[in-house]
Amino acid sequence: STKPLIVGNWKMNGLRSATGELHKLINGLGEQGSPSAEVMICPPLTLVMAFSHIASESELQIGAQDCHTEISGAYTGDVSAEMLADAGASAVILGHSERRSYHGERDRDVRDKARAAYRAGLQAIICVGETEGQRRLGLTFDVLRRQLHGSVPASATRRNTIVAYEPVWAIGTGKTPTREEIGEAHNFIAQELGSVLGGEASAGFRILYGGSVTPDNAAMVLSAMDVHGALVGGASLKADSLLAIASAQ
Ligand code: 13P
Repeated sequence: STKPLIVGNWKMNGLRSATGELHKLINGLGEQGSPSAEVMICPPLTLVMAFSHIASESELQIGAQDCHTEISGAYTGDVSAEMLADAGASAVILGHSERRSYHGERDRDVRDKARAAYRAGLQAIICVGETEGQRRLGLTFDVLRRQLHGSVPASATRRNTIVAYEPVWAIGTGKTPTREEIGEAHNFIAQELGSVLGGEASAGFRILYGGSVTPDNAAMVLSAMDVHGALVGGASLKADSLLAIASAQ
């Protein structure tokens, strides 16, 4: 599809009372007739099943924010990709910078989780991105190359995988790269996926931008080179602002 994909990552936000926002979002998308973007919400785990149920008759997709590598077993507190699929999720965010930094996830953990997602029939949304210090030192492309080679399985396809470019310094800070910088990074990621997967397999891969996307900058972000959508944190919690982002172009 040529429509941009807008994914809302709710992170650790949202109680059952947030279900009202989901209804608003579904109604808003319905009013757009043929919406100009595909939209997915990744709520906290406690809401995945209820949201999947509510969204099942709509165009809205529901995803999760992490999964374990194994199908089942003695892993207290963890949830498998199969359980997410069973709860109605169609995708899972993997290797988000908050998982990498607060839970010590390494590239190979992310790759193993992506394989688990494929096994369960879920799409993997694999996140990569440099820190502010790495960008200052001119290491952005080196970091992206290492993360892509380490985190994206050889079995990744444009159907089972979406890559999200999230510069760590742009997450939750109100700072964003310029349109040119976003385009350069996305173009590099597109090229590098060719080296990870081979040219044919990497063609048509979707690459989302994430980091301080708002209704005000969404048109700029979505018009940058090789950008196929956005991964939105804070601005995805309110239906109105997510709808504004989804209709910005
Ligand atoms: P913000 O949109 O709140 O900056 O978060 C971005 C993000 O981390 C999405 O995964």
